[in-house]
Amino acid sequence: MSDFDYDLFTIGAGSGGVRASRLAAQYGAKVGVAEEYRVGGTCVIRGCVPKKFLVYASEYGHAFSDARGYGWSAENVSFSWSKLIENKDDEIDRLNGIYIRNLKNAGAEIFQSRATLKDKHTVHLEAENRDVTAKKILIATGGAPWTDESVPGHDLGVTSNEAFHLKELPKHVVVAGGGYIAIEFACIFKGLGCDVCLVYRGEDILRYFDTDVSVQVHSELKRQGIRVITQAVFEKIESQGGDQKRVTLSNGAEINTDLVFWAVGRKPATKNLGLENAGVDLDKNGAVVVDENNRSSVDNIFAVGDVTNRVNLTPVAIREGAAFAETVFNKNPTTMDYRFIPKAVFSQPPVGTVGYAEHEARKEFGEIDIYKTSFRPMKNMLTGSEERMLMKLVVDAQTDRVLGCHIVGVDAAEMIQCIAIAVKAGLKKADFDQTVALHPTAAEELVTLREKYVAPM
Ligand SMILES: Cc1cc2nc3c(=O)[nH]c(=O)nc-3n(C[C@H](O)[C@H](O)[C@H](O)COP(=O)(O)OP(=O)(O)OC[C@H]3O[C@@H](n4cnc5c(N)ncnc54)[C@H](O)[C@@H]3O)c2cc1C
Repeated sequence: MSDFDYDLFTIGAGSGGVRASRLAAQYGAKVGVAEEYRVGGTCVIRGCVPKKFLVYASEYGHAFSDARGYGWSAENVSFSWSKLIENKDDEIDRLNGIYIRNLKNAGAEIFQSRATLKDKHTVHLEAENRDVTAKKILIATGGAPWTDESVPGHDLGVTSNEAFHLKELPKHVVVAGGGYIAIEFACIFKGLGCDVCLVYRGEDILRYFDTDVSVQVHSELKRQGIRVITQAVFEKIESQGGDQKRVTLSNGAEINTDLVFWAVGRKPATKNLGLENAGVDLDKNGAVVVDENNRSSVDNIFAVGDVTNRVNLTPVAIREGAAFAETVFNKNPTTMDYRFIPKAVFSQPPVGTVGYAEHEARKEFGEIDIYKTSFRPMKNMLTGSEERMLMKLVVDAQTDRVLGCHIVGVDAAEMIQCIAIAVKAGLKKADFDQTVALHPTAAEELVTLREKYVAPM
């Protein structure tokens, strides 16, 4: 008989926490899980999933006008934000139910409560005002949106958390940020018919991506009428009565708007978690420091997912959770491989990318070859849309290995999932060349790129 109430207690029932807890329970551990908001976590409740529904909704905004080129007339179409949100919420409720059932069926006990650490084996459940003990503890609390509190009126803005529950669709939106969440929401609102202005402090949006991707997305945002202001930050936000706000920027510009949207980053959710009571080390960003086995500085406390601020994506949190459970509860030592993780930006047009950006590859491999093309996809020939597609391969000149693939254009995310298999497997450019094209598709360009790109002198 164990001296503890649980073999494993998990704080946070998001992507990482749920996967780890389910597997550990299936391997015979007695598992407790605390969730302060809703089981499913950010991805299911207020991240990837609801966002993708909003992306689908906004794509219809473009599709109705594109359809005219194909002979359709779509007059008097209308859109209901409240219907969209209602349908989205129904689906989120369904998924939330599935996550709860899966945890329970695996034998885990769920506590609807905020949980904090009292010491290295004791968890305090706030909702029940009681303590439970566990031999091992998993911190899987994810991250939370960050707003710049030094900006007067910062609280007049919303974050992605609230954006999924707006009562009405705004007419005008000012988005702060240049990362993927900022770009995705700028496109969502634009596609739904709002006037959108994106304000970013740096020179280039999507700065962690290949430069060609960043440039292409920037020009596509502008082409569809999103006002992009770079090298500026919010100086203050003032209420103008009702829903109206005025945003003053550091460059002196003033923008009147009815929605201010903060998308300037997320922070690991470690605040007031009591980690100091157990002696868990955090890094300068507040992330739990872990080793390759997801073990913190305290031997029985582990952490997975966004709270460790490694690669903050759902499939990564899930894999880390699985690796933890395999290692600790199934005698199957497993570590996560962080190389060649495919990534997407569900902008319009979307981005799909895997592997090295050109500048990263040059730094690490020295001599590299670039193959790239930019073209108007076939579908746009009848719609009249000037939207362009970018495809780029980054190749190691020594070995011919494809180090990276970057796509901006329709279905980029779907394509990159498949290309990621080839890139991860270490296939060469010659393997791409030997693959017969599938015609007529946009993706065929990836196997017909023959000319090395030579930068203009
Ligand atoms: C708007 C948005 C869009 C995104 N889009 C994508 C995408 O397209 N693709 C992708 O791969 N990733 C996307 N992400 C990132 C993805 O959601 C996260 O990487 C993923 O959810 C991380 O999982 P996690 O288990 O680490 O944390 P989370 O899923 O955040 O789960 C943490 C859980 O812990 C709970 N919690 C926190 N503190 C406590 C406490 N003290 N006690 C009890 N419970 C607590 C929280 O309520 C939460 O449910 C998106 C994120 C956002 C915000």
